[in-house]
Amino acid sequence: MRILVLSDIHGNLHALEAVLLAAGDVDAVWNLGDIVGYGAFPNEVIERMRPLADLTVRGNHDRVCCGLSSSQGFNPVASAAAEWTRRHLRSDNMQWLRDLPMGPLRSGDRTMVAHGSPIHEDHYVVTMRDAWSPLQQMPCDITFFGHTHVQGGFSLLEHEWNELRPVFHDRHEAESMTIDVPVGTRHLINPGSVGQPRDMDWRASFAIYDSATETITFCRVPYDVAGAQAAIRAVGLPERLASRLSDGR
Ligand code: ZN
Repeated sequence: MRILVLSDIHGNLHALEAVLLAAGDVDAVWNLGDIVGYGAFPNEVIERMRPLADLTVRGNHDRVCCGLSSSQGFNPVASAAAEWTRRHLRSDNMQWLRDLPMGPLRSGDRTMVAHGSPIHEDHYVVTMRDAWSPLQQMPCDITFFGHTHVQGGFSLLEHEWNELRPVFHDRHEAESMTIDVPVGTRHLINPGSVGQPRDMDWRASFAIYDSATETITFCRVPYDVAGAQAAIRAVGLPERLASRLSDGR
């Protein structure tokens, strides 16, 4: 099985279309949440993903935008975006967001999916220290997670701990990097953010998990970032949400 794993689309339809095109034919799609918030196309992105994704877990922005959680704790820009999104969501899409399950969810014999940490959906896994306890406690070999908007992850092989950060060379091209995830190793894998990368690379991020070869491929793909920025400005969302997209942070 070739599985497209994506996260943190954040209403960026331009980035999502580029990712779906670059991923090509896949056997399944796993969506790690934060489908809306920040971008100008919340309805369009939900309607594109609803029939495609075999598994979806909710993100913190999904919860706030559909009214399940308050925006307390969000910075002013994120709050303004959540408020705008809530006003523009169609009622059926709002209900779909409200019904999304909380992670982690088991997705296969070796795998599960979560928005944040597998220990708590809102926890950020940024450092090895954050990864330490989930890597040991999780009931399967691989957890795919998002929330940080940083592609990469952490691995544990017996007593050897590693941080995974794909290294790429040309930010104008599509690039990919494949790692082995053999049985007997444990991995926390972040496919990165489709719609608002924050790892200093503006290209849309995703990952492909191949369960036959036991490999994961980290991918970056250029997209029409000017189009996404123009749409954000046209609907009156905060300027920072447009400018940060081309900086990748
Ligand atoms: Zn997010």
